[in-house]
Amino acid sequence: MTEAEGGAFADLLPGVLRRLLAKRRDLDGIKEKLAKHLVLDPDETLRRWSELPDLEPTSGPHVPLLLEARELYRHGHFYSCVAMCGIASERIVKDVLGEGLAVRKDDEALDLPEEAIPEIDRFELSAIARFLTKAGLLTPEARKAVLDLAELRNRYAHGSGAKPREDALKALELLHDVVNRTVSLFAGHERLGSAPQMDTLPGAAGSFGFDPTNPIPGDYIQYCAELRCPQGHPYSFKRRGSLGVAGPDQHIIDRVSLLCDGGEHNIDLFFDVYHAGTSAATPDGLSRGAARGKRLVGGPGPLRGVEGA
Ligand SMILES: [Zn+2]
Ligand SMILES: [Zn+2]
Repeated sequence: MTEAEGGAFADLLPGVLRRLLAKRRDLDGIKEKLAKHLVLDPDETLRRWSELPDLEPTSGPHVPLLLEARELYRHGHFYSCVAMCGIASERIVKDVLGEGLAVRKDDEALDLPEEAIPEIDRFELSAIARFLTKAGLLTPEARKAVLDLAELRNRYAHGSGAKPREDALKALELLHDVVNRTVSLFAGHERLGSAPQMDTLPGAAGSFGFDPTNPIPGDYIQYCAELRCPQGHPYSFKRRGSLGVAGPDQHIIDRVSLLCDGGEHNIDLFFDVYHAGTSAATPDGLSRGAARGKRLVGGPGPLRGVEGA
């Protein structure tokens, strides 16, 4: 793409390339000239890669869409990344619906006929999400991620996104929430939020929340938003990823870093996010209040200093 007079853009290279390719001419001269357009800046690409949420093992028809969304971010295509995340999430929700629906005929339960499945695409996403939640096929947390992502996508689909890079990260984070809470095969097909609500885990040992051997069961986002430091400040918090070790009930444990708004209290807490709802128990020295804490995603931020802590 070249900038012409008056700030207008034009790209007449495709015609040139077609003529060269048709004549089987070698493209070395052009390759050299356009070298910087043909490869990505490795430093920038790796930096953007480092901002992505970790991808836990997952498989299924949503995987190519998910990988494309991640690639768009790595390549710096933030606007299309937001749109792609919305598309992938919608696909996942419709697949869950397709899998979950059964039809009764002559008093016998049948799987949904193959030819009926494309008709699902006509249903409106928020109605499907509500239906699936009521049918017990989608947790309220997963539904919230689906709806938040749909809203973000709509803003970009109508060309009115204001902070593409930030919103692309937010969209990816929400998409990974949707994946982890629906179709992720991590930890033996178990879905996040699908085990029963608990305040503490049976067999736990050590300091509640502070030791991975006594993780906090349930949704870390809601829980951390409610937490207050000993001075009463809400926290900004960021999920650091899973530890790769199992807790007292064999669920994989996640680490979350928190920094209070006063800046004087900086902690790591451990969660077992396979449980529904939130725990009523609170780690020693902390308290709970209205959900005012802020979840941070990817990249640099006030929690950067505690990276790898
Ligand atoms: Zn558990
Ligand atoms: Zn504080």
